[in-house]
Amino acid sequence: MRTTRETEPVRVTFCGTRGSTPAPGPDFTRFGGHTSCVALSQDGDDPVAPPTLILDGGTGLRRLPELLGQRPFRGTVLLTHLHWDHVQGLPFFGSGDRDDAKVTLLLPAEDRDTDAGALLERMMSPPFFPIGPSQLRGAWSFGLIPCGTFEAEGFTVVAIDVPHKGGRTVGFRVSDGHSSVAYIPDHCPTALGPGPEGIGEYHEAALELARGVDLLVHDSHLRSEEVAAEGSFGHAAAEYAVRLGTMAGSGRVALFHHRPERNDTEVERTLCRFAESPVPVIGAREATTLAL
Ligand SMILES: [Zn+2]
Ligand SMILES: [Zn+2]
Repeated sequence: MRTTRETEPVRVTFCGTRGSTPAPGPDFTRFGGHTSCVALSQDGDDPVAPPTLILDGGTGLRRLPELLGQRPFRGTVLLTHLHWDHVQGLPFFGSGDRDDAKVTLLLPAEDRDTDAGALLERMMSPPFFPIGPSQLRGAWSFGLIPCGTFEAEGFTVVAIDVPHKGGRTVGFRVSDGHSSVAYIPDHCPTALGPGPEGIGEYHEAALELARGVDLLVHDSHLRSEEVAAEGSFGHAAAEYAVRLGTMAGSGRVALFHHRPERNDTEVERTLCRFAESPVPVIGAREATTLAL
């Protein structure tokens, strides 16, 4: 957190915090049921200023009209990867699927597949879905995440590959020059080795993304005792997220990508493990906004 600054603070809104599948029902109201989606805005003290940069397009995208009101979305959507829980909100993105919307959607290239629109169309086209990406209303453009550092909507973004499972996956580090957030929602650090505690390697890509950020938003799908049996499914333990944030000097860690069967009580139980943590730890809650 900065005490003085020349630009307006960055606001980070958790639109969807769940991993794998939505988790509806009364036991999931505190941390929310929508899948991965985070909206960023640079809006000063104006709580209704529009987000312009969105990280992932899970079902949380359906919350954007609450942030935008009657306004269209005019900005960029960055996808970490193409798993269902990170893209299924796209066809239901009301603020983007309208004639006056303007959306740039960037996703990571696969090895042989570098046509972004065609890649997305593999999951969003008949008979799997009634329409394809090109049939969304408004001015949509589809492209690939540039390697390394690039600019998007006034933010500087660094995209770095991280191990996950089943397709290329990146993590993002987003900065406005004053505040910064790292977003690593799906991360399988055990793919690179057990690390010092047996829950995954603290590798350079993860450290580089998280180093010194104000907020680290990280995969906490598992608990440490689940890693031995389930680590190969592609996710990290909450303990890994907190240790990574501590090692990297992050200002705060937000546990994210909550396991869909982990109800509010269970997520709170996970959080209790970090009451004495050297870095402040929160559970990412849907429909809440943090100012950096
Ligand atoms: Zn996921
Ligand atoms: Zn995934």
